[in-house]
Amino acid sequence: MSSLFRHIPAVDRFLHEFESDASLDDVPRSMMRDLVGEFLDLCREEIRQDLLHSVQDLDLTILVPRAKAYILSRSQTHFRRVLNATGVVIHTNLGRSVLAKSAAQAVLAGCAHYSNLEMDLATGQRGSRYSHVEELLCRLTGAEAGLVVNNNAAAVLLVLDTLAKGREVIVSRGQLVEIGGSFRIPEVMKKSGAILREVGATNRTHLVDYQEAINEHTAMLMKVHTSNYRIIGFHKEVALADLVALGQAHNLPVFEDLGSGNFFDFSSFGFMPEPTVQQVLKNGADLVSFSGDKLLGGPQAGIIVGQKKYIEHIKKNQLNRALRIDKMTLAALEATLRLYLDPKKARDTVPTLAMITASPEKLQKKAQKLRRILSNTLGELACISTRSGFSRVGGGSFPEQDLPTTLVCVVPKQGSVEDLRQGLLHGDLPLVGRVEDDHFCLDPRTLTQDEFKLVGKVLHVALLP
Ligand SMILES: *Cc1c(COP(=O)(O)O)cnc(C)c1O
Repeated sequence: MSSLFRHIPAVDRFLHEFESDASLDDVPRSMMRDLVGEFLDLCREEIRQDLLHSVQDLDLTILVPRAKAYILSRSQTHFRRVLNATGVVIHTNLGRSVLAKSAAQAVLAGCAHYSNLEMDLATGQRGSRYSHVEELLCRLTGAEAGLVVNNNAAAVLLVLDTLAKGREVIVSRGQLVEIGGSFRIPEVMKKSGAILREVGATNRTHLVDYQEAINEHTAMLMKVHTSNYRIIGFHKEVALADLVALGQAHNLPVFEDLGSGNFFDFSSFGFMPEPTVQQVLKNGADLVSFSGDKLLGGPQAGIIVGQKKYIEHIKKNQLNRALRIDKMTLAALEATLRLYLDPKKARDTVPTLAMITASPEKLQKKAQKLRRILSNTLGELACISTRSGFSRVGGGSFPEQDLPTTLVCVVPKQGSVEDLRQGLLHGDLPLVGRVEDDHFCLDPRTLTQDEFKLVGKVLHVALLP
């Protein structure tokens, strides 16, 4: 065995082979040397374990292709594309919303070149980065003014810091929510310097509870849209319109954190009613904040719309400078918002909307197509079947809404479903699916037809013995 070690080729011989290989051009030389070293360490380990046992196994013609595959897989970027076969449309761990094509193109165009990010081209003078989206936001929501920051958590923080620092904000106990990723209303309130004044009970809050809590220290009435859970049974929440009337009587602004805000009316697709941003403003909220990358289907952002006098005040807050969005976000957001000018077009072109509203019939057809492709690609490696199941909207939106779908199920002929699930995560193009009743299930809702062949390929690699 020890004599075999002497037959391991030197690192430089690999480097020499790879020098003329264009497919390795993107791998920096220093990294290449390290990776060849790592690969040869693996070979030594294989010799120790008696997996490599002859001089022929160590021939360059055998080792070079193996080393190349190793380098290509290890030199991939850490942040990369994955295939989402979970059926969870707004999957926070997988990047929430997928951008519309025009939004992705806008990012590329706006960032590979200089732009008018902060120049008013009409005057040649310094302009505002927010001007690119503020008008669109007003047009779409009916608001007087708007502002965009890094995410909705930042938006809430900024509103509270600007309008309620050192003063009291009245919130119903039933709305003191925690969102995944440790965003909690009471904690954000504390950070902003505003003082939380909880009213009501967890399940029931009445207008009189707010009324009695108002005093000379009150700065604002706040409503949090509890989008990620629902209290059912003996439950009462004060309607926004009533809160607004109370706020007006006491000259207090009413702010609603809508969380997963959207402009699109899903109820015509059979969804339970969810207020749109337009409706919330129409009901009299002075300020509304919501995420850009949840139901809206755009980039990560926190959008604040509402009355001009408040928005102007918020814009001047120093904290706003720290929470401001970058040009990539602006480019993607403007392109996304433009699609909403025509709601029909938005439904077809904003992937989040298209996936959520995909009909069961369409999904069944997609599933059949995926099943055919998988049967052809995988042959005897697995049993493929379809069955009905459910997808989820995700992102804390429509928590109780089951979206009917058709799942494509894969059961490997060899090895366990769990091993397959793991193996798919570790491939060059990771695939995330879900395991149900010992089947590996793929939901076509969150896969595009263009991705089906790739799905077949990565499954094939993962299933090979
Ligand atoms: C998601 C959510 C947030 C946080 O929004 P991000 O854009 O993730 O920062 C805040 N409030 C509510 C009600 C939410 O649903």
